[in-house]
Amino acid sequence: MRMGEVTMSSDVQRLLEAADFAAIKHKNQRRKDPEGTPYINHPLGVSRILANEAGITDVVTLQAALLHDTVEDTDTTFAEIEERFGEKVRSIVAEVTDDKSLSKKERKLRQIQHAPHCSYEAKLVKLADKLYNLRDLKRCTPAGWTEKRVEEYFIWASSVIAGLRGTNQTLEKSLDVLFKESNILLGDKFLSERD
Ligand code: NDP
Ligand code: ZN
Repeated sequence: MRMGEVTMSSDVQRLLEAADFAAIKHKNQRRKDPEGTPYINHPLGVSRILANEAGITDVVTLQAALLHDTVEDTDTTFAEIEERFGEKVRSIVAEVTDDKSLSKKERKLRQIQHAPHCSYEAKLVKLADKLYNLRDLKRCTPAGWTEKRVEEYFIWASSVIAGLRGTNQTLEKSLDVLFKESNILLGDKFLSERD
């Protein structure tokens, strides 16, 4: 579908176009859970959280959620996203894409630093992405991960989320519940009690 047609399409058509594009791009990838769940479950789930839990109806945001890991994890380019889905979707996807030329440590740090400066739409995608991944880690531990690594991921995610607060009450409440249930202790405080 070309750009000219994008504006002519219905919301449902644009969503399905993005879902289909993401499914093709992620077709050979699996999640890190021991069952090796198909990767596409994740972007579909992130978009579902936004629409069905957070009440987001903006199609551009939901398309960006469906496409949010395509550039980071597949051969997809930003130019391809822009041509097929438009400039706004490209810019949200760009905001949530890590720079793979940096070390993992640096990428993790940048997410914490950049979170407060993201657009409203990118903040929504980031919150839903973290919520999905934390629920996934709670559901089952990836192969080869220790309990400590899971804890470290929760702690890092909470630092990113701290910079996203004030964006969507429903998502932030669901994240708070997850942190409370995780019972991770930081010094003499629980992770859920951090401000
Ligand atoms: P990774 O970045 O390697 O893995 C987490 C990412 O994998 C998620 O953000 C998610 O990204 C994706 N993912 C795929 N499948 C799943 C799944 N089933 N559940 C959740 N996420 C999934 O993790 P980190 O390197 O951040 O490791 C976590 C912490 O552990 C870090 O803080 C790091 O410091 C530490 N660490 C510890 C090691 C150790 O051996 N103790 C080794 C390396 C790191 P997406 O949304 O893009 O799919
Ligand atoms: Zn993701």
